[in-house]
Amino acid sequence: MAMFESLTKRLEGIFQNLEGRGKLTEEDVNSALREVRIALIEADVNLKVARQFVDRVKEKAIGADVMGSLSPAQQVLSIVHDELVEVLGGTGESNKLDTNGNPAIIMLVGLQGSGKTTSAAKLANYLRKQNGSRPLLVAADMYRPAAVNQLKTLGKQIQVPVYSEPMGSDPVDICVHSLDYAREQACNVVILDTAGRLNIDERMMQEVVNIRERVHPREVLLVADAMTGQEAVRVAKDFNDAVSLTGMVLTKMDGDARGGAALSIRTVTSVPVKFMALGEKMDAIQPFYPDRLAQRILG
Ligand code: GDP
Repeated sequence: MAMFESLTKRLEGIFQNLEGRGKLTEEDVNSALREVRIALIEADVNLKVARQFVDRVKEKAIGADVMGSLSPAQQVLSIVHDELVEVLGGTGESNKLDTNGNPAIIMLVGLQGSGKTTSAAKLANYLRKQNGSRPLLVAADMYRPAAVNQLKTLGKQIQVPVYSEPMGSDPVDICVHSLDYAREQACNVVILDTAGRLNIDERMMQEVVNIRERVHPREVLLVADAMTGQEAVRVAKDFNDAVSLTGMVLTKMDGDARGGAALSIRTVTSVPVKFMALGEKMDAIQPFYPDRLAQRILG
């Protein structure tokens, strides 16, 4: 990405006199990390998180031997990269969905417009195609008739059944009833599309809490718009405090959001990003790989 090409260039400028000196000094590292911090903030990483991150990198970078094959700038970038991967979830299986249960239950929560309904359908499509699952989509947003119709349309498009009840039904009942329906229809994964609001409010949270308590989903995923940057961090924190999230779907990563929100969210809440959505099409979703986002952030 353009900004990070310039970060690489800026680092090279800072380090050009270091070649052959053997070790990275504190002064070299400080100048480099100032640039890294600015770049992170430009990438929408929250100030405090950027500072914490840079401190972690600093400890590792000072006194590191300058390796023959890498320029000092590349070496700092490599330490930054590894640390980014680590903070974003490491190389393990932090993106795995828990699909145990008969049926497995995945509940999606989030603000209106975040891409929740679209993500529910994309996830169903993904699970059907990649895992051979038989998903059922559940329209539990009783506040927006359009959301129910949207889910039905998407379901038809991807050949996944959609469970719905007339407007005005109780969202908790809808979710409970959908589990019986899933068993009848031999569906083994149920994806609950819960109501989204413009802003977080008490009633919305209570509804999500009630559904969680009644159906015990193994996965409660917050769908958040990566373009909203710092706002996404606040939303993640509020939802996590209220309903204990198990993961996140970060949407609209096809835009020019740099993905810094993922770093802030992970640092502030410890909630792993499990999927990334990259467009409006039904196949525009993929499991979240920390190293790919780190690459993207570093360019
Ligand atoms: P909801 O209100 O949270 O259910 O949001 P919707 O699923 O209706 O999505 C809101 C808008 O964002 C729609 O126009 C979607 O097509 C669009 N959208 C959702 N996910 C993505 C994405 O990953 N990339 C892009 N570019 N648009 C998306």
